[in-house]
Amino acid sequence: MSQAAPSSPPHVSFGWQLFKSATRSFTDRRVSLWIALVGLVLALLVTLVWLAGRYEASQYQAELDRDTSDAVSDIRTGFGRHILNLQNLQSKALPPKAWQSEVAGLLGQNRDWLRLEKRDLQGIVLEFANTPFRPPLFETHTRLNEQAEILQTCLRARRVNGPAYSRSYFVPQPDGIGLEVMEMCLPILERGTAVGFTLLTYGLQEVLISHLGETYGRRNEISFIEPDGTRLAVHGTLPRAKRLFTATQLLDLPGITLVLRMDGRRAAPNLFPNVLPALVTAMSIALVSVLILLVKDSRRRLKAERDLADALAFRKAMEDSLVTGLRARDLHGRITYVNPAFCQMVGFEAEQLLGKSAPMPYWPSEMVGEYQQRQAVRLAGNAPPREGFESVFVRKDGSRFPVLIFEAPLINVLGKQTGWMSAFLDISEQRRIEEMSRASQERLQATARLATVGEMASLLSHELNQPLAAISSYATGSLNLISNQAAADASPALSDLQMALERISEQAGRAGKVINSVHDFVRRRDQDKEVVHPRALIEAVMPLVQLQAQKLGVRVETTFDERLSHILCDRTMVEQVLLNLSRNGMQAMDHPHCQKRLLTLQVKRAPSNLSHGWIEFCVIDWGIGISEEIAKQLFTPFFTTKPEGMGLGLSLCRTVVEQHGGHLEFLPHEPHGTLFRFTLPTAPDV
Ligand code: ADP
Repeated sequence: MSQAAPSSPPHVSFGWQLFKSATRSFTDRRVSLWIALVGLVLALLVTLVWLAGRYEASQYQAELDRDTSDAVSDIRTGFGRHILNLQNLQSKALPPKAWQSEVAGLLGQNRDWLRLEKRDLQGIVLEFANTPFRPPLFETHTRLNEQAEILQTCLRARRVNGPAYSRSYFVPQPDGIGLEVMEMCLPILERGTAVGFTLLTYGLQEVLISHLGETYGRRNEISFIEPDGTRLAVHGTLPRAKRLFTATQLLDLPGITLVLRMDGRRAAPNLFPNVLPALVTAMSIALVSVLILLVKDSRRRLKAERDLADALAFRKAMEDSLVTGLRARDLHGRITYVNPAFCQMVGFEAEQLLGKSAPMPYWPSEMVGEYQQRQAVRLAGNAPPREGFESVFVRKDGSRFPVLIFEAPLINVLGKQTGWMSAFLDISEQRRIEEMSRASQERLQATARLATVGEMASLLSHELNQPLAAISSYATGSLNLISNQAAADASPALSDLQMALERISEQAGRAGKVINSVHDFVRRRDQDKEVVHPRALIEAVMPLVQLQAQKLGVRVETTFDERLSHILCDRTMVEQVLLNLSRNGMQAMDHPHCQKRLLTLQVKRAPSNLSHGWIEFCVIDWGIGISEEIAKQLFTPFFTTKPEGMGLGLSLCRTVVEQHGGHLEFLPHEPHGTLFRFTLPTAPDV
């Protein structure tokens, strides 16, 4: 394709360029539209996933926040319960032994209690008990640094007559790990007055384990932190790869504010964190797939439509360029289709023919019955001859023409006959050619006969020459004898006889010349052409014309243009033509109804644009005229309407005139008769 393009004509290549650039811009636009669509869908998907992730994260964060505040309230409740337990213990005012056993029970129940002390108002430890779950806390660490803080806490407790908590502190342990602890001081009241203190040491980690471990510890890492983020106690662990959610909540206790931090052990949201975005994504993908399928389908459909349109256009072009007429009829004989060739053939528009049934507008009126019968036979299901049949149609202008018809049943895709399809061939041209060939055949036969006649004429002329020469010699001899005698005896009879003999001699000479000319003509020798004045030609034939004119009662008149040029011709043959035409004209007037018997011989100059001029000879009669029938075969050899006629005169005349380069024709003469005219070339100037 690309190789052929440069050789295409400029307008084609320009059109091709235009088409290419239009197609390219269309393709570019479509590609960018597709990119935009895919981009949009992707952006939508990403946004959706991101939003869903964020939603899930916020959900989880909220859950974690809720859990943290629940945890804080759980701890607070637990601490409240502890205070109740301790108050219960104080109210019993137990002796030391009983106190020990009671406290051991409490320490066994509450794992976050590490140590319980009973102190007097000065802070002297009266009783104490350690948790059974760990080694004694303050064996190595004597809390010297924390005593002031403890006293402060107890003072606060005494002041408010309620529990007070100390700041937490780290207690190193022999195993090297150590732990963060916090004290709670509860005054021992007797009738509203503090008499001592109960000091409870909480292990912060144990607080986390015992109060929150079961509920929150499995999924989260729970810790107490300082405001600067330092961890005081931790419970639970978090795998590092997972996303961390953090929630913090203040645990406000009298004397201390702890910060509870909960780290969620929730993994980062997946690409499709929950069903909704996954569903939307799946639906979007399905939508895009359906869209792609639709586009593919519509492309296939478009291509199919284009192919169909091409096929239709090709079929239409084929039908339009066909010279064979096509016509379809349904089973009721109604026309359902005609092609342009058929319309052109019959001269009707397609609209004028479609839906028409018998009698068709192109049937000759007298043949309607026959054609209708033929159609009835066809519609009855009888197949027409395969080789077709001939018929005659009438055009819209009334002219008739022969057609060759081929008919075949019209079968649809289901194999069912829906009508008849006919093809028509206008065979007028064929007929004309056949006619021409027949005519030329006849002409050939005539020519053959003419050749035979020519041979006979040649023979005759040869045979007649001798007697004619003898007649001429005898006439000359007789004339010589008479002229001698006439000199002595001047009788009128002798002079008449002399004249008669002169005419005999003259005519014998003329006859001889005619015979020689015919001989030459038959032998196809070049005639001896001579320069002669037209008037001389007419004058030469006048005596013979007059002779016959007198016999038939015809008046002969001659008219000549002034200053006629000479012509170059075979004089005898042209005289013969003039004689022949004059004789025919006079014979045409030999009719009882003929009113005016006048034969006019005209000679005039004919217009010419050649180097030489033309002289036109007209022979006009007032006879019966020439009917159309006769006119058709007028110049056909051996055609005659006369009983004694040969029918060779006119065909010979035309041959002679055409051999001189002229032209012979005839026209009707108004009001009666015929005008024959022929032209001959003038002689070149000498
Ligand atoms: P022929 O004179 O032997 O019949 P032609 O060839 O000279 O042969 O003429 C052929 C026919 O043409 C004649 O028989 C006649 O019917 C017709 N014809 C010729 N000239 C005239 C004319 N001037 N007027 C009427 N009919 C003519």
